[in-house]
Parts: sequence; structure tokens; C-alpha cells
Amino acid sequence: MTRTRFPRPLAHRLPVSSTALFNASIAALIAMAPLPAPAQSAPSPLASFTRTLNAAISGYNREHLNGVSPEACATACLADARKSWCVSFDYYKASQQCDLSDKRAADVGGLKTDYAGNPYDHYALNPGPGVPNPIVGPYGRRHVLVIGIDGLRGDALFCAGCATTPALSQLAAVGAFHGNVLAGGSQSTYSGPGWGTLFTGYWADQHGVTSNDASLPLRKPHVFDRIKQVYPTATVAVVGDWANITGNLKPAGADFVVANAAKNSQQATDAVKGWLSWTNPPTVIFYYLHNVDIHAASYDPYNAYYQSKIVGEDAQIQQVLDGLVARPTYAQEEWLIVVVSDHGGTGSGHGGQSAGERDAALVLTNRYRNPTKPPYCQGDLTGTALPQTGALTPHVLDFLGLVNDTAGSKHPACGAR
Ligand SMILES: [Zn+2]
Repeated sequence: MTRTRFPRPLAHRLPVSSTALFNASIAALIAMAPLPAPAQSAPSPLASFTRTLNAAISGYNREHLNGVSPEACATACLADARKSWCVSFDYYKASQQCDLSDKRAADVGGLKTDYAGNPYDHYALNPGPGVPNPIVGPYGRRHVLVIGIDGLRGDALFCAGCATTPALSQLAAVGAFHGNVLAGGSQSTYSGPGWGTLFTGYWADQHGVTSNDASLPLRKPHVFDRIKQVYPTATVAVVGDWANITGNLKPAGADFVVANAAKNSQQATDAVKGWLSWTNPPTVIFYYLHNVDIHAASYDPYNAYYQSKIVGEDAQIQQVLDGLVARPTYAQEEWLIVVVSDHGGTGSGHGGQSAGERDAALVLTNRYRNPTKPPYCQGDLTGTALPQTGALTPHVLDFLGLVNDTAGSKHPACGAR
């Protein structure tokens, strides 16, 4: 519902494509645009906001202010936040006005970033300290970071002549790797069925997402929802640029959902870095990287273009890992990092049942820059067959101490500690 009290220029209210948008409400703890440092010891009210240059929420304006500075808008929004509705504002740079909103970009499908002349900056009230993760194990609060690399063939990693992937290589070196998680079989090797299987631990005949049709609901619980069933205060976050990932394939109870702009992995990365900067980050995060798949002219592990996309996403992952270890409390936490892919490919496509299309990747570790933690699993697990049902959901449930009653089973080498 649009609450515009004061009309904006028409262009400001045009419908926008969600894929073209980027939600900065959470995402952008983003260093897109550093805020000015406070001049004196009293912090500027702007310190409570993250600014995204040349962007605004289209519509949803609850209060309009004229003749104001950004600081005055921030002060007004903070005052109103105590009445618990103002969470963002858009500032009219040329005319010193602002619109206060009770919506975050995530609530309305993202920010609009293509206004003619770029008259607005968006300011999102920074989230608070977050909600403490209720899942505490012997090695600290237990979190899971799931890194989904669409279309990454399992045999495209860690081989002579394969892409050079320092981040993924380090994760595997301190953890475990499976180079041939079996996608497909009873279902196509399209993305929707694959992610559905990873997220639920069931094949598509059970979870219901038999194609990339975004109107198909998941008929089995998302693993993140299973966590919330047991721990209602656990918080779950999802970021991705594919509408299905933030649509029919997302957890029903997702607390934070960011739809980054298509192909813009940096925006997804910034969203995750933002979450990791919170005192209490989400209990579990799904971080979706699309570019290995959507740019693939070839899924051949030795194809230079395919490799370049893997290398690019690896660099994104490194940023997130750096953000993770920068947490002041990281050593007192235990993060299971799971890297999964939904399918491989052959030639320039996927969907069928060839060995290359069925070959998905898995990397998992609880010991990234945290060597004192007993390993969740270690080494090259490829020798033991691992169907896609077993790659993600059973490991997440097991690591968090939850019962796994899905159709999938964890790898036998994992979890023995
Ligand atoms: Zn895919």
C-alpha cells in the first residue's frame, strides 16, 4: 500500500523490477557511501543510518519534511522510531526535503536506483544489535553460513588446471570436500529442483518444486524453518538475486531477505557482511552467488570463462570470510560454513542427467581460522556417494543438534566428534 501524502515526481513512483533492485535496508551496512564522521563527540544522528547514494524507496512515504538537512531528517526519523514506525528516509538532495517511511527496502522489493538525474539518497536506519542466537554448544553459539554457488560443478574445484580458488581452498583445507554430490536422478538438474532438495532434504517428488516455476511452493519444510520450529528466537537470513531464492524457495519464517540486483554479487556480499557486523548476527544465513551459472558459456572445468566466474565468486566469498573472522566474538562462536551447488552442467546447459550435469560440489568446515574447534568433518569425502538430499539439510540439522527426519542422510564421515 502506498502511503504517499506528498506526491513525488512521477518517475519516483513507477513500478520497478525486483531484479533490478537492491535492498539496502540490511544489505548495505554497505560501504557504498561512507557517512560523514561526527564533527564532535556527540554522534551525528546520521550515524544510525546507512546511506545509499542515488536510490530511494518508490512510494511508501509517511511524512514529508521541507527545508531540512539530512541530519534533521535523521533526527525526525529517530524521534518517530520511538513511536516505532520510521525506519528509513529518502532525501531530496537539490531541494532539501525528505520523505520518512515506515518501510525498509526489503519490505517493498528493494530500492529504485534509476531515477533521472539521481535526485535522491536513501538512508536506512541501521538494525539494532540483533537477536541473540539461542543455539549454544560446547564451543560457543552455533551458526551456519550456507554459501550457494549456482551451477558449480564438483569436479571444477581443487584439480590441476582448475580455477584458482584461495577462499574455497582454505575452507576445504581446514574442513571437508565432496567433488561429486549427486544432483538429479529422479528429478531434472534444473536449479529449482536442486535448491529445493538441498533446502529440504527431499527429492522434488516430495518437496514439490519440480521446475524453475516460481509459483511452485515448497511442500516440505525449509531446513531454516525446522531450526525455528525448535528455536523460535533463532533468526534466519537469505540474500540472492534469483527471484525463486527470495520467493518460493525461501524459508517461510525468514527474518531478513535481501533481493540483490541481478548479477551483482558484491551487493549480496555486502548484505552478508552487514549481517556479520551485528553483535548478534542471524543464526543461519543463505548467501547465494549466481554468476558461475548465469554467465556460463561452458560448464567445462577447464573453460577459461567458467573458471573466471568461479574465481570471481571466490573473491566475494573471501570478503565474507574476512567479515566473519573480524567479528570480535568470532573465537567464542562456532560457525559451520557449507558451500553447496544445485547442479553442474555440460556444454552450455543443464537440466539433464549426464555426469557433468549431476555433479555438484560440497565444502564444509567449522574451523575456518578457528583451529581449536574439533573438526565437524575433514578431508576428501568424494569416495563415498552423497546424494543431493544429504548435502545440506542433514549436516545443518546435525551440527545444530536437531533431529534429522528428512529423506537425506549426512555423510558418514561428518559429525563424529
Ligand atoms: Zn542452478
